[in-house]
Amino acid sequence: MSLPLRSLLAVLMVSLSACAPFQVQTILPVRVAASPNFDQRKPNYVILHHTTDNTSEKALHTLTSPERQVSAHYLISRDGSIFQLVEESARAWHAGQSWWGGQTDMNSASIGIELDNNGDEPYADAQINTLLALLTDLRRRYNIPAANFIGHADVAPLRKADPGILFPWQRLAAHGFGLWCDAPLPAAPKDFDLPLALTALGYDPNTLQASRRAFRLHYVRGNLESFEDTEKAMAYCLLQKKILLPQ
Ligand SMILES: [Zn+2]
Repeated sequence: MSLPLRSLLAVLMVSLSACAPFQVQTILPVRVAASPNFDQRKPNYVILHHTTDNTSEKALHTLTSPERQVSAHYLISRDGSIFQLVEESARAWHAGQSWWGGQTDMNSASIGIELDNNGDEPYADAQINTLLALLTDLRRRYNIPAANFIGHADVAPLRKADPGILFPWQRLAAHGFGLWCDAPLPAAPKDFDLPLALTALGYDPNTLQASRRAFRLHYVRGNLESFEDTEKAMAYCLLQKKILLPQ
């Protein structure tokens, strides 16, 4: 192709793309009738993780290596410093195969936050303080309901256990992030159906045993061999909170 012809084509392509209000994705022959009435899609969940690493440097390396194919929007260090790795409007790769309340692509619907923690250590105060500040900021901008601040284990109970049994869910809930009920809990009704209640809370009914394990990990802390009555009372209380809390 001659040079003038090539530059003419390039100019034509640029002016054509400048005319198109947006890129059409479907292969169907649509006619574009662009509307000005839209804004960016917003995340409506926050999923919390721990890195299982001993240093932020190691975690950063994993979360930014192309071959690892994992990321999160934010990483919070033990000292409370914070890294942003992916733009909030983009889909970070943190939840993997997941299920919550019937949704199967939690990466598309959520902000992912990694907390640098090896899984066997208490979470540092400075780290949780930064997390609370970040969650407050996210809730202000996206209006995320309290019930939608959840853990990786909740949405992927067959594969994951993070952010783990040492994560201070109760402290978060005191600030309006996630559901919680304090003991002593009133007993659930006699015919209370625990599997159905877990499904109503969001857990995957197709992986019932694992979902129940994740529920205990999150809400029946340090009491993993608890009696079914304790779990039922907790689920009963949580469901009422989920329904009654302002959305
Ligand atoms: Zn995770």
